[in-house]
Amino acid sequence: MTAYPALRMLIDGQWIETGEAGSMAVVNPATGATIGQCPKAGPAQLDAALKAADDAFAGWSHTPGAERYAILRRAADLLRERAPAIARIITAEMGKPHAQAVGEITGLADVTDFLGEEAKRKGGRLIPARGGQLIAQMVTHEPIGPSVLLTPWNFPVNLPGKKIAGALAAGCTAILKPAENTPASAQLLVECFVDAGLPKGVLNLVYGDPGPVSEHLIAAPATRKVSFTGSTAVGKQLGALAASHMKRFTPELGGHAPVIVSRHADLDRAVAMCAATKFRNAGQVCVSPTRFLVDKAIYDRFVAEFAEQAGKLKVGDPGADDSVDMGPLAHGRRIAAMEAVVADAGGNRGEVVTGGSAIQGIGSGGGFFFQPTVIANPAPDSRFMTEEPFGPIAGIVPYDTIEDAVRIANGLRYGLAAYAFSGDLDEAHYLGRALRAGMVGINQLIVSSPETPFGGVGDSGFGSEGGEEGYLAFTDTKLVMMARS
Ligand code: NAD
Repeated sequence: MTAYPALRMLIDGQWIETGEAGSMAVVNPATGATIGQCPKAGPAQLDAALKAADDAFAGWSHTPGAERYAILRRAADLLRERAPAIARIITAEMGKPHAQAVGEITGLADVTDFLGEEAKRKGGRLIPARGGQLIAQMVTHEPIGPSVLLTPWNFPVNLPGKKIAGALAAGCTAILKPAENTPASAQLLVECFVDAGLPKGVLNLVYGDPGPVSEHLIAAPATRKVSFTGSTAVGKQLGALAASHMKRFTPELGGHAPVIVSRHADLDRAVAMCAATKFRNAGQVCVSPTRFLVDKAIYDRFVAEFAEQAGKLKVGDPGADDSVDMGPLAHGRRIAAMEAVVADAGGNRGEVVTGGSAIQGIGSGGGFFFQPTVIANPAPDSRFMTEEPFGPIAGIVPYDTIEDAVRIANGLRYGLAAYAFSGDLDEAHYLGRALRAGMVGINQLIVSSPETPFGGVGDSGFGSEGGEEGYLAFTDTKLVMMARS
C-alpha cells in the first residue's frame, strides 16, 4: 500500500506545506473518505511562483536543447520506475483501476521522451532570399515564456505531464495548477522532473480554488502562454480572459465522440472494442466513444451484444481489488449528472437496455458508483445526444444510409474524436475524410501516440498537444532577415 503523501506546493525550488488561502480536503471517490488536506495558494504565493518562473526563464530558454533533453529523459525514466507507486495514488484520488493508471504513467514517459528529443531535433528553416543585398532569411522557433498549465482530474498525471514536457522541451518555464481532487498525482509527477535535475524555478506547482487562481495567473504580466484542458464552458471563459490580456491560449476541451458501425464492419470485433473502450476510466475520457451510430441491418445484434458485454463488467473499489474493470466516478456531482441524463433519455423515447442507476453498497458504501449504462435509440434532441455525458453511458442509434450516419455524427458543435468501423476500403476512406473532428480512428479506437498531435475542432478547442505540435505550441515564430553590410 502506498501512503498518501503530505501535500506541498513547489515555488522557486521550495516545497511549501502551508497555503495562504487555507486548505481543502481530498476525498477518495471509492469510499467517500477524506485522505488528505491540500494547501490553497493565495495571491502572494501565486506572485512568488510567477516571479520564480519569470526569473528562471532566461537561464532555461538558453540551456542547450541537448541538456533539456537529458533532464526530460531522466524524468521519463523516473516515471517508469515509480509508475506502480504513483498509480496507487491516482487510484485513491480519482478511482481509476491500477493497470489503467500504470498505463497512463508509462504512456506519459514515452511522450516525455519524444518531446525531449524534439528539443535536440527542432531547428528552424532557411528561406531563399530574393537577391539584391539580402543574403539570408531564417525562421526560428523561440520559447514563448512562462506558461500557465491548468489541468483536470481524469488523467491526473498524463495531462499535466504532456503540458510540462512540451513547455520544458521548448525552453519555457511553467506553473502547474492541477485539479482540486488530484493534487498528489500532480505532485508525484512534478517530483520526477525535480529529481531529474531541473533547476529551481523552472517548474512550479500551486493548488487552490480554480477560478481565482486561474484568473490571477492568466492576468499576470509574466505569463505568456496558457494551456487548459477541461470543460468547454470553462475553456471559453478562460480563453476570453487570455485574449483580453493578449496571451497565447491552447484549449483542449470536451467531446462527444461518434462511432459509426457500418454493415461492412467486422461486427464481433467492433462490439468487443467498443464495449471495452467505452467504460474505461468510467467513461470519463474526452475522446471516449459515446454516440454509437449503427446500420439498421445490424442494429439489434449490436445493441444486444454491446449491452451483454457492458452488463458483465466488474464494478468495484479499485483501491481494494486490482481486478475491477470500472471504478467510481470522480465525485458525487457526476452521479447526479448521470441520473439526469438517464431520466431525460427515458422520458424521450430512449430505452435503458442495461444499467441506468447509481450503485449502493460497494465497500464502505460512501463511494460514487454508477452502472455501465446502455441507452437504445435516444431521441436526437435528448440531453444524451446533445450534451457530453462524461460518464459510463453509451447511446446506440440506428441509421439508414452512411450519409445519414455522417450527418448525425457531425451534427454537434464538438469535434474532438470520431470513429468508424468498416471493412469496405472506399467507405473507410470516405469516413476518414467526412467525419468532422480533430482525430479520427478507423477500425480501432485509439487516437493518440507520443509522435502524433492530439486536439480538437469547434467547441472541443483548437491547437494540439503531443507530436511536434506539442513542442511548437510553446514557441513563437521568429524571422531574421540578413543583408550584406
Ligand atoms: P468542471 O468543469 O467543474 O471541472 C473540470 C476541471 O476544470 C476541474 O478539474 C477544475 O480544476 C477546472 N475548473 C473548474 N472551474 C474552473 C474555473 N472557473 N477556472 C479554471 N478552472 C476551472 O466539471 P466536472 O464536473 O469536474 O467534470 C465534468 C466536465 O468537465 C465535463 O463536462 C467534461 O467535459 C469536463 N472535463 C473535460 C476533460 C477533458 O479531458 N477534456 C477533463 C475533465 C473534465
